[in-house]
Amino acid sequence: MSTIAWIGLGHMGGPMTAHLVAAGHTVRGVDLNPAAAAAAAQRGVEVVATVADALRGADACFTSLPKPEHVRAVYGGPAGIFALAEPQTLLLDTSTVDIETSRWCHSEAAAHGLHFVDAPISGGTAGAEAHSLTFMLGGDDDADISRAREFVAPMAGSVFACGGPGAGVAAKLANNMMLFIGVMAMSEGSQLAEKLGLDAKVFWDVVNVSSGFSWPQRTWYPVPGVIGTAASDDNFDATFSVDLARKDCGLAVQAGHTTGVRLPAAELALSQLDTLIAEGLGAKDCTLVAKLASPDGTLRGYDPSLDSSSAIAEEART
Ligand code: NAD
Repeated sequence: MSTIAWIGLGHMGGPMTAHLVAAGHTVRGVDLNPAAAAAAAQRGVEVVATVADALRGADACFTSLPKPEHVRAVYGGPAGIFALAEPQTLLLDTSTVDIETSRWCHSEAAAHGLHFVDAPISGGTAGAEAHSLTFMLGGDDDADISRAREFVAPMAGSVFACGGPGAGVAAKLANNMMLFIGVMAMSEGSQLAEKLGLDAKVFWDVVNVSSGFSWPQRTWYPVPGVIGTAASDDNFDATFSVDLARKDCGLAVQAGHTTGVRLPAAELALSQLDTLIAEGLGAKDCTLVAKLASPDGTLRGYDPSLDSSSAIAEEART
């Protein structure tokens, strides 16, 4: 069994570390948010105060951090992972970042004599809980990829070696761009069905075996009482926040600009997420885009008066 350092015990890191603990590994975790750290401790993670404490003697170090700037901050600098990790510690970043940040991680790791694999994930919090995540691995070294496969196995449903440095992140960005365009389609379809008087569950059953089927429709349907575990069943508290969705969609649009690929649908999805952020809803779930389809801006299942101060605190943090 291995000792694993884990930085970032949030919506994804929390359940993912629990599976590593259940597989028999010792997991030493760090999070700036005491609530996230306490929840992980409940699931068997040994919570420590610093990255240095987590890294000591670790076989692997995972990061699950909100945005590229958090990743650069945690890996870089004198108290960062690159400065402190030992050569035997395999470094894996599961965060969704831009290609440049991922390549920076690979080159800095190499400059420090360390081994890094980009290892972004898909499947949402439901996939994290069910240890059915898709891992997209990027790296040149076959031995690193083999070791990465072993470390991610307790959390994974599928694992793909996508190519060289940054290839996992490239796959992730293209995938998530498709996801957020899909969220828009599902949102508009769900609200049209509501206003046309359809029973939400009957309509969902129809779509589920018809050509409107999609992953967000199956997992994130934005009408309460249909899925049972969707954000719409919990006043649209975030399983995947508007802020993180905006980040992913923005990174994909940025990659489109770099490569010359035209992405009008992704730009529209991005503008809808920006609208929600301008309304102060960045910490809520990204499926709140359904609100933008509603004729009067209200949405069944969403009561703004119930929004907790913790959601506001979350937004301030990320
Ligand atoms: P999250 O905000 O819930 O968790 C991130 C955690 O990192 C927070 O608890 C935060 O306190 C912590 N953190 C930030 N800076 C830190 C630092 N310097 N040191 C220690 N901890 C720090 O985010 P999440 O939803 O768990 O997502 C994590 C990553 O996974 C993101 O890059 C996201 O895009 C990606 N992702 C999320 C989902 C999803 O459905 N939520 C799905 C796939 C991928």
